[in-house]
Amino acid sequence: MSEIVDKIREDLDGAVNNAKSESELENFRVEFLGKKGKITSLLKEMGKLSDEEKRSFGSEVNELKTYAANLISKRQVELKKQELQKEIDETKEFDISLPPNLESGSYHPITLVLRQCAEIFKSMGFTIEDYGEVVTDYECFESLNVPKFHPARDMQDTLYLTNGELLKTQTSAGQNAIYKKYKDALINEGKTIKAIFPGRCFRNESLDACHENTFFQMEGVMVGKNISIANLIYSMKIMLIEVFNDKNLKVRLRPGFFPFVEPGFELDCSCRICGGKGCPSCKHGGWLELCPCGMIHPNVLKEGGIDPEEYMGFAFGLGLDRLVMMKYGVNDIRDLNGGNLNFLSQFTEDK
Ligand SMILES: [Zn+2]
Repeated sequence: MSEIVDKIREDLDGAVNNAKSESELENFRVEFLGKKGKITSLLKEMGKLSDEEKRSFGSEVNELKTYAANLISKRQVELKKQELQKEIDETKEFDISLPPNLESGSYHPITLVLRQCAEIFKSMGFTIEDYGEVVTDYECFESLNVPKFHPARDMQDTLYLTNGELLKTQTSAGQNAIYKKYKDALINEGKTIKAIFPGRCFRNESLDACHENTFFQMEGVMVGKNISIANLIYSMKIMLIEVFNDKNLKVRLRPGFFPFVEPGFELDCSCRICGGKGCPSCKHGGWLELCPCGMIHPNVLKEGGIDPEEYMGFAFGLGLDRLVMMKYGVNDIRDLNGGNLNFLSQFTEDK
């Protein structure tokens, strides 16, 4: 009987070692180890044998079974490797012989300035809040004293979603949630609300050197018992002096209308590209509009659950793109979203 076993082993070796693919190998597995396979069928011969022969033949067959299983799985690994190599060789899209690209990426200039501003405000005791990009009409307008059909809505050409929500046009959209989050600490513990919330904003703008449809703002609010315009000016001044590392930087506050503040201001900064002489970035005026700001409108506080008779505060919405342009002397806002790595990689600092 052992001649049969030897013959099968020989056949198995030849078949398995010459299998050209995994599917061919699988056919051989069935041929030898399947229910009706050559090895399995050997056990049917056992009936004809004496007890002693059965024992030795049985162990020979079992040994062959184990041998076959090992041989097949070993060949399977080899074939897998070969097939992978073939796939690599035939694929023209990548070349594994090329040296790896170990150059590290760079931070976007907006990220750098955003982090710097966040650090400055953190050092003044502000918390940094995160807020979504898709918001409700209530969050972006109604809670900010801009009811439906208010003419101020025309100032911001808004991108609405089909479900009635919208892409936030201003980081002010986070104000209501911030007031609600911290009002208990304000009212019960006497803690001043000091928060900044940076984020991406969207408007349906026609693009030019100073307008983009996607831009970054950083909203800041401070609410407490005795907060005044002096606190606003102080915070903004400290921030700008730090960002530009320039104690002589000029800022001006001029009246501006924004429905969510009363009184409202525009905070302008002397144009750092032309030094105030006038250039396309400052619309030839010598000043760059940096930041709408003012004292939070009583209706806005009320919507946030804060009694405007008892508390007051300031809010500002800093344009980070403008700040980046001024800090680095970029004269076209469109470069910031342009994706040109030669442009974007210039700003990397070890941060
Ligand atoms: Zn200028």
